[in-house]
Amino acid sequence: MQKSFMRKYAAFLALLLISVMAISCDASVQMLTPSVTAPNLYGETQPPAEIETAEGEVPGDADGGAAAAQPEKQLPPDTKVSFLACGDNIIHSNVYEDALTRGGGTEYQFIHMYDDVADLISGVDLAYVNQEGPMGGEKYGYSGYPTFNGPQEMGDALVDLGFNIVNIANNHMLDKWESGFLDTVAYWKTKDVTLIGAYLDKEDYDDIRVVEKNGIKIALLSYTYGTNGMVLSKGSSTVIPLIVEEDIRRQCGIARDKADFVICSIHWGNEDWFKPSAHQLDFKDIMVECGVDVIVGTHPHVLQPIVWEENSEGHKTLVIYSLGNFISTMLYARNMVGGIITFDIVRKDGVITVENPLLHPIVCYYNRSRRGLQVYKMENFPAELAASHGSQKYGAFDINTLKRFVTDTIDSAFLPDYLKS
Ligand SMILES: [Zn+2]
Repeated sequence: MQKSFMRKYAAFLALLLISVMAISCDASVQMLTPSVTAPNLYGETQPPAEIETAEGEVPGDADGGAAAAQPEKQLPPDTKVSFLACGDNIIHSNVYEDALTRGGGTEYQFIHMYDDVADLISGVDLAYVNQEGPMGGEKYGYSGYPTFNGPQEMGDALVDLGFNIVNIANNHMLDKWESGFLDTVAYWKTKDVTLIGAYLDKEDYDDIRVVEKNGIKIALLSYTYGTNGMVLSKGSSTVIPLIVEEDIRRQCGIARDKADFVICSIHWGNEDWFKPSAHQLDFKDIMVECGVDVIVGTHPHVLQPIVWEENSEGHKTLVIYSLGNFISTMLYARNMVGGIITFDIVRKDGVITVENPLLHPIVCYYNRSRRGLQVYKMENFPAELAASHGSQKYGAFDINTLKRFVTDTIDSAFLPDYLKS
């Protein structure tokens, strides 16, 4: 068997040699040379038949030629980007008044409200926050609910903590009308952050923001369900990025062309609902179908589920329906429990996936005077602070109740060990 194969193979090589010599006399020798050498590039396992079928073809043409010309195309190097997202940063009047007290009555000092979670934020490559409400500056006067305007010192604190992606598309974005919004944008433009959710005209709206980190390009989309009835100035070119199917589909396409990975920040859902609404489910389906990699949901002021979804092409999407509040002085225990999601964007062998998604539940504390604000990781939240929480006035506030808001809502696959059932 082996001898007969060797004989056939030797005969074939002899034929090949003759044909190569014949071709060498032809004027087209320069063009044809690569088709003779090409099999070597495939490696030793390439069957001789391939050489025969290549005969007479012009090398470098659409199929075999092009593949042969770039057989050693380098895959991008394996790499990783760590990402974090926090929910609604709401500057209620109690929050900024507390900050003023901490600053000795002369300045607003917010940063220490976040001491217990600061290590998470500073420990990642990219950190996202939804800044709910404008920071248009002192000239608008500071105000809390229902039309917010927080001190810009809060923005300074967020940047100092390590946030480098700031979303301002939410229902409070026009609380100080368009001028307050534009002054908020102008403030954020002085900071070294990627601002999303603010678009000065249609062209700017489709100029999808992309951050590049560790060699991975990440596109950031941003939408909000509305603006609480507040409207833009007459004749304004500003675009409010509303949740519109056509816009989402178009921008997902642009984002996928422009970047390696797509994250969509979306302000949606019903307040105080622990489950996604029909509207959320409908738009989740659209984003999953469009190949968004991660959906970061905000607005319901409580946690909502985290799930994996897969589209018809087998592309997976991590859906975080709602992260709840980051900081606020809302009344009820359920509003005091939020989450910080962390995950890694990993590129291995040229394929990008989301790895290690983990929700770090947080508890926001305020005392009976609605001061003393402090955001804690749930595992660090002291039991004695549960007893003195100002929210006690509005219903049960104990550590087991707080944990249940998490464990009844979030699949244990996304929770730290101490909360796994
Ligand atoms: Zn909201």
